Amino acid sequence: MASSILKLKKFLSLERERHFDNRAVVGGLDKVIPIWQKEALSDGLDEEVIASIVLQLQRYSSLDVSSREETIKAIFNALDDPEGPKPVEGIEPDPSEESKPAPQPRVPHRLNIDLNAPVTVIPGVSKQKAAILARLGLHTLEDVLYYFPRRYDDYSRMKPINRLTYGEEVTVLGTIVAVQTRPIRGGKSQLTEAVLSDGTGTLRLSWFNQPWREKALHQGDQVTVSGKLDMYLGRLVMNMPEVEELEKEHLHTSGIIPVYSLTSSISQKQLRSIIHEAVRFCAPRMEDYLPESIRLNLKLMDLGVALYQVHFPDSQDTLDQARWRLAFDEIFLLQLGVLRQKYTWKRVEARRFDTPSQWLEEQISRLPFPLTGAQRRALDEIARDLQSGRPMDRLLQGDVGSGKTVVAALGMAMVMRHGAQAALMAPTSILAEQHYRNLSRLLTAGDEHSPALLSPEEIRLLVGDTRESEKEEIRTLLAEGKVKLVIGTHSLIEDPITFQDLQMVVIDEQHRFGVAQRALLRAKGNNPHLLVMTATPIPRSLALTIYGDLDLSIMDEMPPGRQPVETHVLHPLERERAYQLIRSQIQAGYQAFIIYPMIEQNGDNGKAEALAAVEEHQKLQREVFPNLRIGLLHGKMRPDEKDEVMARFRDGEFHILVSTSVVEVGVDIPNATVMLVEGANRFGLAQLHQFRGRVGRGNAKAYCLLIPDHEDALENERLAAMAETSDGFVLAEYDLEQRGPGEFLGTRQAGYSELKMAKLTDVKLIEKARQQAQAIFEKDPDLAAPEHAALTERLNRFWGAGRGDIS
Ligand code: ADP
Ligand code: MG
Repeated sequence: MASSILKLKKFLSLERERHFDNRAVVGGLDKVIPIWQKEALSDGLDEEVIASIVLQLQRYSSLDVSSREETIKAIFNALDDPEGPKPVEGIEPDPSEESKPAPQPRVPHRLNIDLNAPVTVIPGVSKQKAAILARLGLHTLEDVLYYFPRRYDDYSRMKPINRLTYGEEVTVLGTIVAVQTRPIRGGKSQLTEAVLSDGTGTLRLSWFNQPWREKALHQGDQVTVSGKLDMYLGRLVMNMPEVEELEKEHLHTSGIIPVYSLTSSISQKQLRSIIHEAVRFCAPRMEDYLPESIRLNLKLMDLGVALYQVHFPDSQDTLDQARWRLAFDEIFLLQLGVLRQKYTWKRVEARRFDTPSQWLEEQISRLPFPLTGAQRRALDEIARDLQSGRPMDRLLQGDVGSGKTVVAALGMAMVMRHGAQAALMAPTSILAEQHYRNLSRLLTAGDEHSPALLSPEEIRLLVGDTRESEKEEIRTLLAEGKVKLVIGTHSLIEDPITFQDLQMVVIDEQHRFGVAQRALLRAKGNNPHLLVMTATPIPRSLALTIYGDLDLSIMDEMPPGRQPVETHVLHPLERERAYQLIRSQIQAGYQAFIIYPMIEQNGDNGKAEALAAVEEHQKLQREVFPNLRIGLLHGKMRPDEKDEVMARFRDGEFHILVSTSVVEVGVDIPNATVMLVEGANRFGLAQLHQFRGRVGRGNAKAYCLLIPDHEDALENERLAAMAETSDGFVLAEYDLEQRGPGEFLGTRQAGYSELKMAKLTDVKLIEKARQQAQAIFEKDPDLAAPEHAALTERLNRFWGAGRGDIS
C-alpha cells in the first residue's frame, strides 16, 4: 500500500482514538492537506481520489462529532475498497450548516455522564424497547455499556467452503439452498438439516430437536453460520451451528462484528444498533477512574476507548487490548475491596509475642518426626505475625494429611509460653476430641532439659456432650486463667465462657464455619491473633482473590513416606470387583467407606440424599455384605448421632461405613483402607480428593475406587485426573478450569457476579491487579486522595450491590 495512504490512515485512526476531537494533528486535521496531497500525487494515487479526500479534510473541523465519525469511516471505506482506493462517497454537508461559522468542537475531553440513567435516554429506545432490554438485565446506561458481546464474527477472516478443514471453528458466509426437518429415533426426536452454498461448495448444517429452525431459515437467505466443523460419512458438516442474518454493510468494514446474547423480540441488528448509540455517546465522555499512573504503567487502554473497542473493534489487536483493560478493572476492583477490608482490620493493635528461635528448635526437636519445609515456613510466618503488634489473620492451607495440626499447636505454644490463653474450634466433636488427644500429647511432653509447656489440667475439651458440672468447672478455670488451652466445637461460642486473657484463636476446617461464628469466638478476647485452617486446596489465583484479606500460608509438601492412595475409575458394571476388594480388605482386618452422592430432586435435597443412603445401606446389608457390620451416616442425623456413628466406626465396631458427603471433614481413621465413591461424576475433584484423604492415613496400602453412574467420556477423563495425581492443588486447578470457580466459592458470592470479562484462572492478570491495588493502599490507605476520588466512587459501586461474606 502506498505510504501516503498508510500515513493518512494513521492520522485518522489516532483521531478516532481521541474520539474525534480534531487534535490528532496539531492545529486540526486540515493541516496535513498540503503535505499529504503532494505525497499522494507522487505515490501515483488517482487524482479524483485525492481531491475527494482533501475535500473531506477541509470540512472536518466544522463538523459535529457524529459527522466527523461518519467522515472518517467513509474515508476508510474508500481507501480499503477491495478494488483499490476510490473517491470518498461524501457525506454531503448540510447546506445550511456550511454557511454558518465553524462551531467549536462540542466535546470537552471528559464530562461525567450519569451511568445510572435509564436505558430510555439512548436515542431510539422507547418504553417498549426498554422492557425488552430489561429481560436481558439491561436497565441502565452502564448495563448497556458493559453488556459485552458473547462472541465476534470476523468477516475479514471468513473462508470459502472449499477451503474449510475438519475440526476448525469457523464462520462461513453463504446462501441457504435447502431446509428440511425429519423425525429420527422412531419419531422420538427431530433433525433439522439445511444446506449452505457459497459458490465454491456446499456445507450441510444440522440441528437436533430444534424444529423451529426450519421456520427461521428460508431458501435464498444470505446468512453467516458459526460452529465447529465435524465429519459425517466423509463429508464436512456443522452440527448445531449458530446462524446470523448477513449484514452486507459489514462486508467492507473492519470486519469484526459483535454478536450478543439475545432474548426473543429483539434482533441482533436492533440490539447492536442500540448498543452502538449508547457507546458512541458515552465512550468519548467517560471519565476514566483508574489513576493515570496505573494506566501508563501497565499501558492500559483508556476506559472509553476500551468500551468502544470491545463492542466495535477496529482490529483484533485493539479488541485484545480492550478486553485486557476491562478484565483488569474487574479484578482490580475485587482486589481493592478485599484489601480495603484487610487494611481496616490491620489498624487494630495486638499484643506482641516474641519467639526465640532456640526455644522453637527445642520444641521441634521433641516431636516424633522432623518437620517438612512447608511446616517450617508456615511456623516462621506465624511467629512473625505474632511479633508484629497487629492481629494475625492467617489462612493455613494444606492438603489433607499435610500436618496442619502440629503447626497450629506450635503456633499456640508461642502464645501460651507467655502465659496467655488459646482456643481451638473444630466443626465436630469427634474432630475436637481428636485434636484434644493429639495436642495434649504434644504440649504436655517434657524432659529434663526443658519442662513441659502445659500440665494436663491446663488443656480442656468442651463439646456439646460435656457434662454440665464439668462445663461449669471449665468456665471457672478459664475465667481465672488456670486453663490455658480450650478445644471444642460450636459450644465454645454458644457457651457463656469467658477468658482471662485469650490471645490466640485457631479455627480448623474453616469452610464449615461462617464469618459470624469466627467473629464471635474472636470477640471472647481482645484482638486475639487468628489462624484459620483449611484442607480444601484452592488454586493460588483464586486464593489471592477470595482470601486476599487473609495472609496465606500454603503447605504444599507432604510428610515423607506417605504412600499414595491407589485410585481407579471403575465402570458401573465392575461394581462387583469393588465389593471383592472391600471383602478382602475387611478379611485382612481393615475397614471401608462407601459414599453415595446427593440425588438431585426438587425440594428437600438433604432428605433425598438421606433416603438414598438409607436404601443403599439396607440393600448392601441384605444382599452384598450380609455377614458384615455396616454403619450409616447421613445429613439428616443430629450432630451427636453423627459423632456417635463416627466414633463407633473409628473404634472398629463397623466394618463398613455407608455415608453421604457429610463424612468429608478431617477425622483420622487409620484403619480404613478403602474409599468407594458411587456416582463419582457428581462430585467436584476437590471434594473427591477430600474423600480420598479419609483413607491412607495408616501404614497399610489404601485404595480409592470411583464409580460414575453413567458412561461419559468427558466425565471419565475428569475422574481419570484423580488416578493420575494425588496433589490436591493440581486437582483444584483442573476443577477450576473445567467447572469454574463455583466449586470453591460456596457462599462467598459477593463481587464474583461482576466478573464478566476476567477469568479467575488468569494468574498473571490477578497478580498484576493485586500489585497495583497494594501500591495504592500503601500510598493512600484511606483512599482519600483527590486523585482516587473517582476510583473510590467506582469501588463503592462495584461492591455496593450485595456485598457479603468475603473473609
Ligand atoms: P491435616 O493437615 O490433614 O490436618 P494432620 O495434622 O492431622 O493433617 O496430620 C496428619 C498426620 O501426619 C498426623 O498423624 C501427624 O502426626 C502426621 N504428621 C504431621 N507432620 C508430620 C511430619 N512432618 N512428618 C511425619 N508425620 C507428620
Ligand atoms: Mg486436620
